[in-house]
Amino acid sequence: NDQIAGYDDELLAAIKGEDLRQEAHIELIASENYCSQRVMEAQGSGLTNKYAEGYPGKRYYGGCEWVDKVESLAIARAKQLFGADYANVQPHSGSSANSAVYLALLNAGDCILGMSLAHGGHLTHGAKVSSSGKLYHSVQYGIDKNGFIDYDEVERLALEHKPKMVVAGFSAYSQILDFARFRAIADKVGALLFVDMAHVAGLVAAGLYPNPVPFADVVTTTTHKTLRGPRGGLILAKSNPEIEKKLDSAVFPGAQGGPLMHVIAAKAVCFKEALEPSFKDYQKQVIKNAQAMAKVFIERGFDVVSGGTENHLFLLSLIKQGITGKEADAALGRAHITVNKNAVPNDPQSPFVTSGLRIGSPAVTTRGFKEGECQELAGWICDILDNLGKAEVEAAVAAKVAKVCAEYPVYR
Ligand code: PLP
Repeated sequence: NDQIAGYDDELLAAIKGEDLRQEAHIELIASENYCSQRVMEAQGSGLTNKYAEGYPGKRYYGGCEWVDKVESLAIARAKQLFGADYANVQPHSGSSANSAVYLALLNAGDCILGMSLAHGGHLTHGAKVSSSGKLYHSVQYGIDKNGFIDYDEVERLALEHKPKMVVAGFSAYSQILDFARFRAIADKVGALLFVDMAHVAGLVAAGLYPNPVPFADVVTTTTHKTLRGPRGGLILAKSNPEIEKKLDSAVFPGAQGGPLMHVIAAKAVCFKEALEPSFKDYQKQVIKNAQAMAKVFIERGFDVVSGGTENHLFLLSLIKQGITGKEADAALGRAHITVNKNAVPNDPQSPFVTSGLRIGSPAVTTRGFKEGECQELAGWICDILDNLGKAEVEAAVAAKVAKVCAEYPVYR
């Protein structure tokens, strides 16, 4: 930040404040992570200056020889990482990738069947407030009272509504998706299968979660969650020239203009890192850490939705304790532990208040926590929830948080 210092100190103070917060607070938001300094270096490069509408070898601007190389590297690595025949690395975000998929393969008013936001789906899977729920006729499935997807219910809804597309994927679900079952349901009604693997893409890349690419007509992901890259989106598919052409045209010129070449370069770095053997070790630890935390909560009498986790996250239901997600989130925040409130099955509270927390292990695992640190951390969270609003308990935990964060710096 040498160039900003002395020129815009007001902005610099905010950037430094955020840097410090990331170092000194414990990050348990399941969709967040710390990318490498290599990723940040690529993203901070002069590639941001370049216009490159179109695709490698087919640009609407001159001077694209180097950005063609960058984008081709990103595409080749994404395909290798996920065993895909097609990759589009241009979507600016996960939501942009999903919008492009709908634009490519549906007409306005077509029926989509996705997981409801309240049950763990994403806004872009057909929620009424999102364009996916406004432009398309959205029907939603959810989880049963034990916190598992009820595939019979998905099938019943598919047979009743005959969707043009079935959407599988989630923002808050701790179990393994049955992609073969989703494929069978889609086939039964002649629907396309679209999988949004944003949350588990890193686990998929490491071979620790089923890869949806062989099952789905199209797969999207973000690159910044478990995958630990820059903020961005990615579309993948197996070989299907007709669908590939539609997807490319939907991203550009359908939904976006010039690609963010600096972000695409950072994605290329991320994919290279994810192809390294050490990435598999990291993802194994992500799962072990989530499971270690979930076990402590259960031992201390808290309800973990679906009884545990098979991935990087889980939901804590606080209905039994009569605590709201909003209160719990605020109390943990005062102890410098960052989580997000989340609706849970049979939640008596509104979506703005909720009775649950979503807890994820990707970020703490990146800073080096193993099961031991995660178990201690879960214990501190229980202490705060058992003593809600007690300032002395919050202060004691905050001191322990400061100590462990200093022991495990993020950016050395
Ligand atoms: N899809 C899923 C499953 C997500 O969880 C998210 C973000 O949380 C997105 C898509 C959207 O990604 P973005 O925030 O990059 O638009």
